[in-house]
Amino acid sequence: EGDILGSLYSKGVKPDGVQTLDKDMVKMICKDYDVEVIDADPYKVEGLVKRREILEEEDLDKLKDRPPVITIMGHVDHGKTTLLDHIRKTKVAASEAGGITQGIGAYKVQVPVDGKTLPCVFLDTPGHEAFGAMRARGASVTDICIIVVAADDGIRPQTNEAIAHAKAAGVPIIIAINKIDKDGANPDRVMQELSSIGLMPEDWGGDIPMVQISALQGQNVDDLLETVMLVAELQELKANPDRSAKGTVIEAGMDKSKGPFATFIVQNGSLRRGDIVVCGGAFGKVRALFDDGGKRVDVATPSIPVQVIGLNNVPVAGDVFEVVESLDTAREKAESRVMSLRDERISAKAGDGKVTLSSLASAVSSGKLSGLDLHQLNIILKVDLQGSIEAVKQALQVLPQDNVTLKFLMETTGDVSTSDVDLAAASKAIIFGFNVKAPGSVKSYADNKAVEIRLYRVIYELIDDVRKAMEGLLDSVE
Ligand code: GDP
Repeated sequence: EGDILGSLYSKGVKPDGVQTLDKDMVKMICKDYDVEVIDADPYKVEGLVKRREILEEEDLDKLKDRPPVITIMGHVDHGKTTLLDHIRKTKVAASEAGGITQGIGAYKVQVPVDGKTLPCVFLDTPGHEAFGAMRARGASVTDICIIVVAADDGIRPQTNEAIAHAKAAGVPIIIAINKIDKDGANPDRVMQELSSIGLMPEDWGGDIPMVQISALQGQNVDDLLETVMLVAELQELKANPDRSAKGTVIEAGMDKSKGPFATFIVQNGSLRRGDIVVCGGAFGKVRALFDDGGKRVDVATPSIPVQVIGLNNVPVAGDVFEVVESLDTAREKAESRVMSLRDERISAKAGDGKVTLSSLASAVSSGKLSGLDLHQLNIILKVDLQGSIEAVKQALQVLPQDNVTLKFLMETTGDVSTSDVDLAAASKAIIFGFNVKAPGSVKSYADNKAVEIRLYRVIYELIDDVRKAMEGLLDSVE
């Protein structure tokens, strides 16, 4: 490590322990040490990189395993809540279960695997709205997504959205094919549908684990949890418990007697009673910590959710928190955070940073692509007929992608909806509609979220606009 720091100095970088290195620097250093650099699909590793940003150089030789954090998503009524309830009831240790009065937004579960018992953590707010809202704020707490698909219903619109969110965040997916106890359940058909949209079941030689369960009766839920732990093991989830804490707020509110409270998921370090924290525009000294069973605790280690009392204000889910030295520092940081949020809002109103075809075009023509993070154009495609999906996709995919690569986050039939806009906002994507409408309410929603919706009736025009943007020539069209 000392060597690496030395060679950073020799390249003119003064490492202060918190900055991230740009890709070229990393490549240079890896070359010095004869380490192969795999420049993977930035889209796929986005989640991994985000997680890694939480870690700092000093942590690298003190890393310990941490439990995975899991979100359950899927179409309404496919059984998310039932699954969460079943897991909570049967897997949370009895002594703790007795103490549960009100959830804190996440809970820890012990899973027996290979004769050991390993912990994992479930976020208690199912659905992709919460996941998307956190992503839109840059938060990435989830390590694994379980997507529930009812065996008697198959893929539905929110299933697609959930898959798109998980993929865009680079989070591994496990499919729970639910309700296999029901008459009319057809798990094979669900697997076929999933494979037709690119999620190939492991059992069929693909890489997506799929477990057939009945959340209502608890059938195979143990298998599902074991699969979660296997996937987690492959991810090598680690953090350094031996330092001051950093993490993300997953829930917050105001209690009449306790004042502002917030549930934190610690992502690095350990949080202790008495620590001084700043999160978003709020700060304070941690007066008390409560675990998921409502029990007072003195410390929370990585991945473990705790409710924190002692903040001066209510933070927002998705806010990052960190422990700082003194209340003065905390106050300063909180204030500057409030200021920068205000600036962000002003510039969002002015449309700065909005991803549009013309911003892409001008980035290409001015050679500022990488600076703007636009080397990839994220696309959400809405079309009138299933058959149009392939037609539009294929026509776009044959465009030369030397400067800009096209990434399809989601392609479905139907008019543009607010949840399409949410996905676009969280993923910095543009929505393309072909022979579909965007209702006025959706348009104004998109305006507020700085999302561009482009509607077309002629395939050629759609393709031509994208091509021009990728070549830096769109101004003439806009
Ligand atoms: P959510 O909207 O995805 O959270 O779905 P819920 O968990 O609320 O479930 C919707 C309905 O499906 C409820 O009436 C559940 O009792 C029922 N349900 C959930 N899982 C199963 C299952 O495995 N088998 C059967 N037969 N019904 C289920």
